[in-house]
Amino acid sequence: MIVIMQPGAKPEEIDSVIREIERFGFRAFENPGVERKVLAVLGEVNLDKADLVDHFNAMPGVTSCQLISNPWKLASRTYHPEDTIVEVGEARFGGGFASVIAGPCSVEDLDQMRASAKAAKAAGARALRGGAFKPRTSPYSFQGLGEEGLKMLAQVRDEIGLPIVTEVLSEEEVALVDRYADVLQIGARNVQNYALLKAVGMLRKPVLLKRGFGTKIKDFVMSAEYLMAGGNLNVILCERGITTFEDSCRNTTDINAVPVLKKLTHLPVILDPSHATGKSEYVPSIARAGLAAGCDGLMIEMHPDPAHAASDGAQSLNPEAFSALMSQLHRIADAVDVRM
Ligand code: PEP
Ligand code: MN
Repeated sequence: MIVIMQPGAKPEEIDSVIREIERFGFRAFENPGVERKVLAVLGEVNLDKADLVDHFNAMPGVTSCQLISNPWKLASRTYHPEDTIVEVGEARFGGGFASVIAGPCSVEDLDQMRASAKAAKAAGARALRGGAFKPRTSPYSFQGLGEEGLKMLAQVRDEIGLPIVTEVLSEEEVALVDRYADVLQIGARNVQNYALLKAVGMLRKPVLLKRGFGTKIKDFVMSAEYLMAGGNLNVILCERGITTFEDSCRNTTDINAVPVLKKLTHLPVILDPSHATGKSEYVPSIARAGLAAGCDGLMIEMHPDPAHAASDGAQSLNPEAFSALMSQLHRIADAVDVRM
């Protein structure tokens, strides 16, 4: 349920609506970024909803009280009709802006990160990615450099000037990753790790939340709601391919998810064509499709030497292929009226 206040509602009127929301046992959530004052009423509604709506509608200063039929409230377009724009450095996602995040799957060493950052920046990417904590299918595969990797990312950010996006794998590591990252990534395997979502929801730094390979869109949005319920409204949703019967690629790109998510929520939606396809030769095609479909950005794996990458080399573009793709993407952005 949301309570929309009149534009000129007095602070006392807003306060008494908040007190009333709390008297019923709910939590009132005020979004400071929204021009029209909308109070989200959070909690399980076991009372008669129609009576509640009538009750709040009758309060001074209230324009209207509406039920939100979906289980997500703060992520809902009903609560927040305008697109949310998430900004970090010069990167902007949503509201007609689409930025590209590029870099290797894993941080390997300083030279590799420096070369990646230079190539990413030269081609027009607005953020650098690189995993220091890696979620690998096999415990014997490269697990990432941990804090050493975070330090390399931070050093390269300072040298080259691109904000850094890096994954946090567990609740215990949130404080550590938060110390270095500009955007915290929650990966496909952790999309329903509610303890992790709650911990990252307590931060105010942007979060890049990836859809799981077997996660329904509605469950994905509920995971974003976990972050937002903690007060972190800077959430970027990332479609990265799902598991289907089709095995010609690593995953199947669910391009439908782009318009569906943008209808259900006000959050920026980006696409990761690298994990979606698993093969560098298909990445440009799916990246172009994503931008044309209305994505608010892309996350693309790019490595200075893909053949020797510690992880995901097969799906990583080399700097030349990345740069060629970026010039095509700029032309698509113009065609669909998006600022890149
Ligand atoms: C990644 O971005 O490197 C990654 C591990 O992605 P996903 O969580 O989508 O598999
Ligand atoms: Mn990867």
